[in-house]
Amino acid sequence: MIPFYAEELGNINVLRASISTHASCNVSETIKVKNNALFLNNQMVIDLSPVGISITADNLVVTQVTAKPDANGLVPWEIKLHLATPPGPLRSQQAEVKEWWTSKLLLGGNSTSKKGIHCQNCQVSLLDDAIDYKIKDLPSEHWYELVECWICHETKPEEHQARMRPILARPNALLVGTSYFLIHPDNIVKDIIEPDVIVSNRTNWDRGTFTKWIAVNCSSCHHVVGEGQYCKENEKMVLLAVKLFKYCISIVPSLNEQPQFTDYLVSDLINTAKIHATHRFLIQGRQSQNIYALIWLFNWDTNIIYNNGYTGKDTTCLNRDKVMKVIYLDCTKDNEHTRKNIGLWSNDKSTDHLIYPDNVCRDLVTKLNQSTLILPDFMRKMDHPAMIFTRDFSIGFIHRSD
Ligand SMILES: [Zn+2]
Repeated sequence: MIPFYAEELGNINVLRASISTHASCNVSETIKVKNNALFLNNQMVIDLSPVGISITADNLVVTQVTAKPDANGLVPWEIKLHLATPPGPLRSQQAEVKEWWTSKLLLGGNSTSKKGIHCQNCQVSLLDDAIDYKIKDLPSEHWYELVECWICHETKPEEHQARMRPILARPNALLVGTSYFLIHPDNIVKDIIEPDVIVSNRTNWDRGTFTKWIAVNCSSCHHVVGEGQYCKENEKMVLLAVKLFKYCISIVPSLNEQPQFTDYLVSDLINTAKIHATHRFLIQGRQSQNIYALIWLFNWDTNIIYNNGYTGKDTTCLNRDKVMKVIYLDCTKDNEHTRKNIGLWSNDKSTDHLIYPDNVCRDLVTKLNQSTLILPDFMRKMDHPAMIFTRDFSIGFIHRSD
């Protein structure tokens, strides 16, 4: 198998591909495009028909990237091919992101609906399922942020807090946010959730707002399921509202849509980028407060085509994926480079923090590292001296299924 990776450049109708061959093969002399496939002499490199791409040899450009062979003794080449049919219009940053598990989907045409919400890890039921819930969408994802903003700027915040509280969660209502359901504590199965001990012990009740959002875990398996809004009355923590994260639960009966955490991450990245006009994110664990990754959004919406030649996996299938291209730093390895960059990014006001359960952050880093392996060696790292925020960062992809 000849390793192959390509990116569709829709705006200029170009497919920018990379292949790697033995040093003895001069690609620029032996390359041919025939029947929508790429050949070296008579050996087929890749047939693009199965992934719905049409290429021609018009304006073909072939460049040897470097004469130095990689670890497998192969030399990389870059090939620019003409896309005969341009890919569908790619979405810009301004385009709406798909919402998963909306109230409309949950209701399926009924005004109320019986739904079970279970812990994704152990399947224990979290929501009292004897009730016919009213299902409604929350006004906007950044609603909380706005509410907190008003409260912070009030001269008598306590008056507002009292007034705001009933809006947060209502009995027998399932309020649907972008990545969570907001539920009244009376509707949560008794004693099935518990505040996370580490987060709870860290909470300083003497500072900040009068209520606190604290990570909550499933009492049965201790996996994180969401966040609880607590206040303190007579030294006791009182639960006021519960957010169950859509990526930590299962819905019963199950829905056709089965979104993954990365689908919610994509909407968080895009929505935050739109509102705060930032492209840089620190991914932080809610429990440990560790920074897991620094992510720079590079391309919101692009298509990549690759075989497993560079990843080293032993399958010959050709994939075409819709992805978000990112420049990232895996911060799980504690070293001077990581610490320096976390410091640099943390001190920069245009960087946004996205906080998720630690297990989800760890999975994300694993996925990012795997995505980098799709690329040829010479494209895996970003190290331009002028780009101080991304020195020695990696290139990776976040899958988009919307
Ligand atoms: Zn559980």
